[in-house]
Amino acid sequence: MVLSLGGSPLDPPPVTPAEDLVFPAARARMVRDQLMSRGIRDARVLAALGKVPRQEFVPKPLRAEAYEDGPLPIGHGQTISQPYVVAFMTEALVLRPRDRVLEIGTGSGYQAAVLAGLVAEVYTTELVEPLARQAEVDLRRLGYTNVHVRVGDGYRGWPEATPFDAILVTCAPDQVPDDLVQQLKVGGRMIVPVGHQGGPQDLILLRKTLGGLERQAVLPVRFVPMVKGD
Ligand code: SAH
Repeated sequence: MVLSLGGSPLDPPPVTPAEDLVFPAARARMVRDQLMSRGIRDARVLAALGKVPRQEFVPKPLRAEAYEDGPLPIGHGQTISQPYVVAFMTEALVLRPRDRVLEIGTGSGYQAAVLAGLVAEVYTTELVEPLARQAEVDLRRLGYTNVHVRVGDGYRGWPEATPFDAILVTCAPDQVPDDLVQQLKVGGRMIVPVGHQGGPQDLILLRKTLGGLERQAVLPVRFVPMVKGD
């Protein structure tokens, strides 16, 4: 008989609620209490946010707070957006499964993961290199194969991959960047928080038509500024 003094691999784990039970339950509550109760209706959008493991996109010490009703810090002075804002912006774009979407401001990669479940291809660009690299690693690890991440200045968009059916900007410029409008298909939509640094911002929903741009302010918000690259 072999006596074991320490813990063996067969010992039961310490008694803490298993993460694989806690997180799905918290996510289901988030969908109900933060999204549906505030008017998010699109079933595909609700399902997408009900599926993406937000805890995998926040720093380890904040995992337990992953499903709280607000933004969280992700380092480099940046944040992962509030789930409701992610849902609101995603719903506003009225996405279709064949769409190709550009996101400006990859941050944690969470919004890109939500989009990845709804459309064919997601192109996402981030100015802060370590954030882009970490997001790329996390997205690969979690099996998202239709997200293309690159380090770059979002004011330039992603010229090689144009035109886009939809563009989602998750940092705030003081006006809608022209290059992004150029890179949108006719009939395409863009959602972008616009406002001066530190001040109030409005989420602006744009639709590109043959005649020009339709523009509508849809929600007051507060995003980190869109920084000018080199
Ligand atoms: N969509 C993110 C939230 C990002 S916060 C998520 O789901 O986690 C906004 C991000 O925009 C920050 O990471 C910031 O570094 C980035 N950003 C700011 N200015 C930018 C620019 N000019 N081009 C690309 N990214 C920019």
